[in-house]
Amino acid sequence: MEPVVHYFIPVAFILALGKIDRRTVLRYSPLALLPDLDFFFGHAFLHSILMPIAISSIVYHLTGRNRTAWVLSSYFLFSHLILDLGFTALFYPFGGVLSLNFNLYTSPKVAENVWNLITGQGAFEKEFYTILKLRPNIKTYPLDAAGSAEVSPLFTQTGLMIILLVLLTMLFGWITEKKKSRTAPK
Ligand SMILES: [Zn+2]
Repeated sequence: MEPVVHYFIPVAFILALGKIDRRTVLRYSPLALLPDLDFFFGHAFLHSILMPIAISSIVYHLTGRNRTAWVLSSYFLFSHLILDLGFTALFYPFGGVLSLNFNLYTSPKVAENVWNLITGQGAFEKEFYTILKLRPNIKTYPLDAAGSAEVSPLFTQTGLMIILLVLLTMLFGWITEKKKSRTAPK
């Protein structure tokens, strides 16, 4: 995923939960971007599933065994790995690059064929089978695939849509908060 999504999604979610104050959340939020520092060194070792465990343990000890610091740093670091699940060296140094593809597509033509099948009207066309050909898959690649990927997203349209939704949700939260404070008895 691109940096802006890596940052805004976990920050927006944790703030929406309202369990931890904003200032503390924002203090640890840069950890959501930290794993991408390895972009300059093979793009693998900071994307290992061992990394959040190691770094959050260090944070826990540096903050004098602060549980909130440990929970927040683990959350932000694991969120990065989840948002990178499409193509990442998750089991570094014990495995290669894990590639997941759970995309499944359909089309209005497929819907029309299913409708024809249910109602018994019209011909059942071959296009219906295309959906079955696009099966999700899990693959592994050698470790150097992480550092030699031709392109890595910097900003995408999906990211833009997600960010707009986050902003819209924040606007909703702000408006309802204002309305509540206006109607509250003085
Ligand atoms: Zn990453």
